[in-house]
Amino acid sequence: MFESLSERLGGVFDRLRGRGALSENDVRAALREVRIALLEADVALPVVRDFVEQVTEAAIGQAVLRSITPGQQVVKIVSDALTAMLGSEAVDLQLDVTPPAVVMMVGLQGSGKTTTTAKIARRLREKGRKKVLMASLDVNRPAAQEQLAVLGVQAEVATLPIVPGQQPVDIARRALSAAKLQGFDVLMLDTAGRLHVDQALMDEMKAVASVSEPDEILLVVDSLTGQDAVNVATSFAGQVSLTGVVLTRMDGDARGGAALSMRAVTGKPIKFVGTGEKLDGLELFQPARVAGRILG
Ligand code: GDP
Repeated sequence: MFESLSERLGGVFDRLRGRGALSENDVRAALREVRIALLEADVALPVVRDFVEQVTEAAIGQAVLRSITPGQQVVKIVSDALTAMLGSEAVDLQLDVTPPAVVMMVGLQGSGKTTTTAKIARRLREKGRKKVLMASLDVNRPAAQEQLAVLGVQAEVATLPIVPGQQPVDIARRALSAAKLQGFDVLMLDTAGRLHVDQALMDEMKAVASVSEPDEILLVVDSLTGQDAVNVATSFAGQVSLTGVVLTRMDGDARGGAALSMRAVTGKPIKFVGTGEKLDGLELFQPARVAGRILG
């Protein structure tokens, strides 16, 4: 569907072949192709601008001008810079605290928050051998609490019993004391999502964070929403101290540009990617792999 970056740059440099040394302008022309590739991968425009500016300086400063394979050289510089910007290494959850560690999940409705809560809980149980309790604080969406209970059964992870009518902050308090009393290692709080960012949601989220003092606050974002994801991330990051991001639906045809935007906007690592509807569809975020995917 998309022309890969190597193909694009190959085209630029083919036209220049036989003309001797490359000029700074030739490199700038190549970087315009990088800009198009990033925009096609759905990276937010301001992020693309900053990135291309940085990389242009680097490319001109390095040996590209004298290189006999300038196309490959530029691709390497771009992909190294992209990987570095994406965080270089996978970052797992930091839960080495006196139990129960608290993980709070935030995001818009439909982002995949509830599914991701169960996926992470399952992973902690299986890989980390942790005893996990999940609680849904979503009292707005009909059956949200029941949905988490069903996922809990599938994931073989305990869920907090539902008390009809109880409000989110009180549910958080009850979950915390249940986790302490019953010796859980990790408590996962699935907060309510809304269709749009609104202040009532933000206030509720802040109140929940202040009673539960989470060790991790993960923002769940749908990678297919591209540019919109940036607005969501900006709003959430301005209200609570996010510790990381989860990008869902990376099994779809998103090129992964949202990863770069998220990282740039929140300054926080992308910790996981969702790769399917099933509970095993979760992977640690691998920056180099996603850089490759963005560049095509
Ligand atoms: P919430 O409203 O944010 O809690 O969203 P849900 O967890 O209910 O997810 C909404 C839909 O997205 C469900 O049908 C999930 O199965 C699906 N979903 C969540 N994560 C992924 C993912 O990584 N890949 C795919 N293909 N579907 C996902």
